[in-house]
Amino acid sequence: MAHIQLKHVCKRYENGFEAVKDFNLEIQDNEFIIFVGPSGCGKSTTLRMLAGLENISEGELYIDGERMNEVEACDRDIAMVFQNYALYPHMTVRKNIGYSLHIRHEKKEVIEAKVNEAAEILGLTEVLDRKPSELSGGQKQRVAMGRAIVRNPRVFLMDEPLSNLDAKLRGQMRVEIASLYHKLNSTFIYVTHDQTEAMTLGTRIVVMKDGVVQQVDTPERLFRYPANQFVAGFIGTPPMNFAEAVVKYEPNGGLYLEENGNRIELTKEKAEKLRRGNYIGRAVILGIRPEHVLLNPTDGGSVHGAGAVEVYEMLGSEAMVYLNREGSREKLIIKTDTAAPVRPGEKVSYAYLPEKIHLFDRIDGRTIT
Ligand code: ATP
Repeated sequence: MAHIQLKHVCKRYENGFEAVKDFNLEIQDNEFIIFVGPSGCGKSTTLRMLAGLENISEGELYIDGERMNEVEACDRDIAMVFQNYALYPHMTVRKNIGYSLHIRHEKKEVIEAKVNEAAEILGLTEVLDRKPSELSGGQKQRVAMGRAIVRNPRVFLMDEPLSNLDAKLRGQMRVEIASLYHKLNSTFIYVTHDQTEAMTLGTRIVVMKDGVVQQVDTPERLFRYPANQFVAGFIGTPPMNFAEAVVKYEPNGGLYLEENGNRIELTKEKAEKLRRGNYIGRAVILGIRPEHVLLNPTDGGSVHGAGAVEVYEMLGSEAMVYLNREGSREKLIIKTDTAAPVRPGEKVSYAYLPEKIHLFDRIDGRTIT
């Protein structure tokens, strides 16, 4: 368990490149924090600064109130699990897991008990006498976790621990990591670019772009209330649809959106936010998630456009429809149920759920509502 604070942390590499800019975060005991973002956004650099594998150019790092900037990696009481597992190939699983205790000169019985306990938690008891080359990818990954567990660290750091596994195994290991987190009652900090991992594992997620934190929030809040267009487009699969719209004003005082020649009504609350932000007559970015677009609406409500189906992707209980919209170069993705399948080339209509529309500033991408 640990309380961690990063205050105005920056990382400038020797070539002058600023990989992390003014990073501020407070992590409470027993949180599962995820760093997520596109390749090169500074996730691993931040994790490595926490671990002490990379020095901090500016700012401060505190763990349990103690300044850590100058503390060596081995004295931070942190365990890190790497993407490539970093196992010793000539040692058995038992020796790999117990190695850190061995070099700390722990008693043989203590090492044995801790290794057995970790193996039990991770389902490795049967393979304790094998070498890494005799293990599957998932088992190797568990051994790497086992090495971290026996140290009973204040913090677990994990850098894309599942990225070398195939999709099915990744799903299984994800569940195992979640269960491990609940068993260990420890603080976890986990880097991934896989947003399913981020959304399912994290108690809070830190979304990064170009070395800058974009938003820190719970998975649900990130999804429902993204701080800007980048977060909105990054979180959610398939991604949110975006299109430019203009905020129009009616003589009777009502506001509506005009998008691709179609009229879109606004909820009272959204209209009020646009009015207060002086957006009347201006272009904004409309965002709508694929699951919030109705395909061939039949309830007599508004229709917001039409298009020809390019691809229909049947995924089991749901389907994705990729649409070439009439009058627009922007495609639209619709997530729908499979009750009424459509065929490529078929002409369909669609409507946005008005209360689910997101609006962003066209210049800086900030969320308006
Ligand atoms: P990925 O998902 O690809 O691992 P990341 O978000 O973890 O990406 P980092 O590895 O933290 O990204 O790298 C952040 C940026 O810093 C990248 O642009 C990278 O090229 C740069 N970088 C990393 N290490 C060094 C280094 N030693 N010297 C200079 N620049 C570096």
